[in-house]
Amino acid sequence: AKEGYHSRIRVFEKGMYSRTNAEYRVLTDFSRALKQHEIVFYLQPQCRASSGKIVGAEALARWIKPDGTVIPPDTFIPVLEKRGLISDLDLYIWDDVCRWQHEWIKSGHTPLPVSVNVSVSDILHTDLPAIFENLIKKYELERNLLKIEITESSYITNTALVMETVRSLREKGFTVLMDDFGSGSSTLNMLKNLNIDVIKLDAQFLNMNESNEEKSIQILESVTNMTKTIGVPIIVEGVETKEQKDFLIDMGCRYIQGYYFYRPLPITDFEILIDDPDKI
Ligand code: C2E
Ligand code: CA
Ligand code: CA
Ligand code: CA
Repeated sequence: AKEGYHSRIRVFEKGMYSRTNAEYRVLTDFSRALKQHEIVFYLQPQCRASSGKIVGAEALARWIKPDGTVIPPDTFIPVLEKRGLISDLDLYIWDDVCRWQHEWIKSGHTPLPVSVNVSVSDILHTDLPAIFENLIKKYELERNLLKIEITESSYITNTALVMETVRSLREKGFTVLMDDFGSGSSTLNMLKNLNIDVIKLDAQFLNMNESNEEKSIQILESVTNMTKTIGVPIIVEGVETKEQKDFLIDMGCRYIQGYYFYRPLPITDFEILIDDPDKI
C-alpha cells in the first residue's frame, strides 16, 4: 500500500511538472515568437448557406514553429489569457489583419470583410474603440471591412463595461458579432437591451443524437425564430456535413462557417481561393 501511495504521488508530480513546463515554454517563447513572426493568422471563409459563396472570413491565430509545426490556439491562448498577455497577441493579430487587408485592396483585389477575435481582457484593459479607430486610419480601410467578435461569455463577466464598449464600437460604425452564442451562459434576457449586428451560433446546437433530436430541432427552430423576430442575422459555426447545411437552410439560416465549406486557410491559400470570382 505504501508503494502504491508513493508511485501515485510521483505520477501526480510529473504531470504537474510537465504542465507547468509547457506553460513556462509558451511564456518564454511567446515574445520571441511574436518578434520573429511565428504567430500568424489563418482565414476561415464565412459563406452564404445556399450557394457556398464567400461573404467574409474570420482570422484565427496560429503559431508556426520554426520546424513548420502548426500549433492551434487552444494550446497557447488560455496560457496567455491566464498570464495577462492575450492583448499582446490580439493587438498583433488585428494589426496584421488590417495590414493584409490594405495590401490586398491596394493590389486591386475585391475587398472582403474579416472578423477578428476579442478577449474579455482586451475590453477590460485596453481602449478598444480607439484601437480599432487607429487601425482603420493607419491602413486606410473602410469600417465595414473589420468586424469584431466578442464571445457571449464576455457579457457575463462584466456586463456594463462590455455593453458600453459594444455601444461605442457600433456608434463608430464597426460591426460587432456575438461569438459562441448558446455555449453556456445565457444572454437571452440581455438581448432586450443590447444592440448587436450578428449572432454566431455555437456549434453545440448542431450536436444531436436519436434521443434528443426532436428537442434539438425545436430549440434550433426557436432560436432562429427569435433572432428573426429581433432582426439579427445569424452565422452558424461548426457545420461539417451536407445534412447539417441542408437542415439549416430549411430552418432559414443564411450564413454558415464550417469545415463543410472551408477549413481555416493559410493566407496564400485564401488569396488563391478568393481570387476566383466564382467563389465570392
Ligand atoms: P472561435 O472564435 O469560436 O473560432 C472557431 C473555431 O472553430 C476555430 O478553431 C475553427 O477552426 C473551428 N471550426 C470552424 N469550423 C469548424 C467545423 O466545421 N468543425 C469543427 N470541429 N471546428 C470548426 P481554432 O482556430 O482552433 O480557434 C479556437 C478558438 O481560439 C477560437 O474559437 C477563439 O476563441 C480562439 N482564438 C483564435 N484566434 C484568436 C485570436 O487571435 N485572439 C483570441 N483572443 N482568441 C482567438
Ligand atoms: Ca470567433
Ligand atoms: Ca465561435
Ligand atoms: Ca470558441
